[in-house]
Amino acid sequence: MASKLSHLTEEQLADLVDRYCNGTEKVVDLIRVFNINARPGDLARLLPPTVHKDLWCEYCKSQNLISRQESRSGSQWSRPAPECPKCGHRKITNCRCEKCEQARYEKEAIIENAKVNLIKVTFDGYVNDLDDPEQLVLKDAIYMLSLIRHSLSDDLNYVSPYELKPQPLAPTFEFTNEICKHLQSKGLIQISELSNVNAFEFDEEITVIKGWYPDRVLWDFLPMLTNSIQKARYIELLEELVLGEVEQKAWEKDIKDFWLEIAKYECFEYFEHLLSQRGFNLKSFGPKTHAVFENLLKRYAVSQIFNLTWQTVRDITDYSVKSNMPKYQAKNMFIGALQRKADKFQAEGWEVKNSRRDFRCPQSFVSATFFDTYIGFGKEAMDIVVP
Ligand SMILES: [Zn+2]
Ligand SMILES: [Zn+2]
Repeated sequence: MASKLSHLTEEQLADLVDRYCNGTEKVVDLIRVFNINARPGDLARLLPPTVHKDLWCEYCKSQNLISRQESRSGSQWSRPAPECPKCGHRKITNCRCEKCEQARYEKEAIIENAKVNLIKVTFDGYVNDLDDPEQLVLKDAIYMLSLIRHSLSDDLNYVSPYELKPQPLAPTFEFTNEICKHLQSKGLIQISELSNVNAFEFDEEITVIKGWYPDRVLWDFLPMLTNSIQKARYIELLEELVLGEVEQKAWEKDIKDFWLEIAKYECFEYFEHLLSQRGFNLKSFGPKTHAVFENLLKRYAVSQIFNLTWQTVRDITDYSVKSNMPKYQAKNMFIGALQRKADKFQAEGWEVKNSRRDFRCPQSFVSATFFDTYIGFGKEAMDIVVP
């Protein structure tokens, strides 16, 4: 017991605590009435804590919780949370005592464990049959060889389709998604059961995986093949086919469509780049944009479409700034304007110049594998209308 209160009887002390906590009397008055030799600010420290007869510590057997007395300064005074004098546990939602931290840690570990198990159950053995390289269609083969060159790990077990350096796998994020979905449906790549739990979305009870981030999961390469010798042989065959060392007649009918597809996404990539440079955020393109570019590709080479796109973006941005047009409004004008510009050039018989590839949009692996390795057109492919 604090010596400055030793002149009080137990009843007087209890009375003092009651009246102090009640808060209606001034502390200076209490000090005078009980004849205490202390400054008002010090009284709280001298008073014994309130023992909560109806509250027990959940960690220490039959230990009542207490509340220490706090200084009553101004109107901010509030009773401190009940706490355990033995272990320091406090009766609040986010208690930071050692026991609560430990309990929280264990609960998190259980959740993490449940997630890891669910990922295992969902993706273990979840693989399709694997076609031999000869049975692949053109698209499968080009995607696969591009991916191999882009990011196959040294042990031949994993690929990282979303890695952007030094060059991206595909011209746009959307296209990369397409490639992953396509190869996954053919069993050529698969989400690894060793993927990080943060790459997935789970339901509340952790009974189903609701979704995943394709750019965060770990991708297994040729999951049906269990050893690297088989994988190396598969890659070798695939290369022979794409390089034309083994003839693959069946692929020829798909060349034009595939060419158009890559060309379209290269146009998107450049369009997106020009827009983002000017502060327009346009990450996915609707059916109208697809239709306009598909139409342009019937008449112009990719490098010419680059030029028309560049002119259009320049003109519309200029116009929107001069006429004080809000960005969301200007954003909808680009694609129509591009169509009109192309029509105008054609109607007037004007020549469209060939623009070069912007160094900030380096050629993707899919484009290089198709144009350079497979059809062997190299840079020229950009400057001709798709035959
Ligand atoms: Zn305790
Ligand atoms: Zn606690």
